[in-house]
Amino acid sequence: MLAQRMEKVQPSATLKITALARQLKAQGAPVVNWAAGEPDFDTPEPIKQAALAAIREGFTKYTPTTGIPELKEAIARRLKEDRGLIYEPAQIAVTCGAKHALYNLLQVLVDPGQEVLIPSPYWVSYPEMVRLAGGVPVEVRTSPQNGFQIQARELEPLITAQTAGLILNSPCNPTGTVLSRATLSAVACLMRERGKWIISDEIYSALTFDGAFTSVPSLGADVYAKTFLVDGVSKAYAMTGWRIGFMAGSAEVVEAAGRLQDHSTSNPSSISQRAALAALTQDQDFVRQMAREFAARRDRLVEGLKKIPRLSWVKPSGAFYCFVDVSQTGLASNAFCERLLKEVHVAAIPGESFGWDTHVRLSFAASQAQIEEGLARLDRFVRSL
Ligand code: PMP
Ligand code: GLU
Repeated sequence: MLAQRMEKVQPSATLKITALARQLKAQGAPVVNWAAGEPDFDTPEPIKQAALAAIREGFTKYTPTTGIPELKEAIARRLKEDRGLIYEPAQIAVTCGAKHALYNLLQVLVDPGQEVLIPSPYWVSYPEMVRLAGGVPVEVRTSPQNGFQIQARELEPLITAQTAGLILNSPCNPTGTVLSRATLSAVACLMRERGKWIISDEIYSALTFDGAFTSVPSLGADVYAKTFLVDGVSKAYAMTGWRIGFMAGSAEVVEAAGRLQDHSTSNPSSISQRAALAALTQDQDFVRQMAREFAARRDRLVEGLKKIPRLSWVKPSGAFYCFVDVSQTGLASNAFCERLLKEVHVAAIPGESFGWDTHVRLSFAASQAQIEEGLARLDRFVRSL
């Protein structure tokens, strides 16, 4: 009964395990949730108030498909202030989360059979979204020895006549790697020479701890012209449930993505749009404070991991994930995570879903007390193997 396109699409492991951890916790199990792919902070009060005001005012009808003009202007202002990027409102489309922006972009950019390059480890949804667009995901392996920085010379032989473009994600889910300016320049230069586009998923840009974050379209006018930037309010403002993301790029492609949206979701929730407007225009101190707290948690996690035998990792510089090599324990990622959850009640995501069966993803979107507790349990578990 099912259409062929669904044959190869896997369920999202990140969403599945996070839901399982929550369910176990609700049943009373003392679960440490290191699986979460979202900030554990509540959405700030002024943002909630803006949503309540929208409801009370009756701002509860359809809006333009790709977002209200005020929100597009607020996005353009933030991109200018934070990243020095200039976008006109016609180059911006507001979507139902960053995931939706990525999905729509791939639908409008990829023809059946075309290849899309994806550095691995990769976020779980990229290959599935490429397949759903009829494309072929092509993995570009990176290595912990290079700090998971993608190497242009390794990317080059993978670019073929079938290549449509490349998806970059910095800071990266699941490694927490922030790609250096030198890495990005080399990769962007190569893609430009070959006339391919880049989708730059910058959803974790506000959560960068050490050193500078480089936004791909800021690398030069010709890179800007062929890059589609994806971001949103989910991570930076603790608003994952509100479902507001956006894309920015050439007006032609953004218009096509809008047409696709016309016939699928229509506009993102009017109420959430007002909330996002408040988030982007309020004092940005909340974002800086949250980033500082994540940096402190990262330090605590990494310090604790050093004391546990047989694990290795690259210190994350952004997002809220640490990608830990567990191969020295003798367990592959699914077995490791299953036993970790069952035996010591710590939820983590198997690296297999990010293309690396030797690793597991630990999320430090958990309180410092939960991080301490998780470390003690992980230590006990690894020593028992
Ligand atoms: N990209 C990456 C790398 C992510 O980790 C997430 C988290 N879900 C998203 C995109 C999607 O974000 P959103 O919740 O705004 O759809
Ligand atoms: N992006 C988050 C994660 O990787 C949220 C879950 C999802 O949308 O996949 O865990």
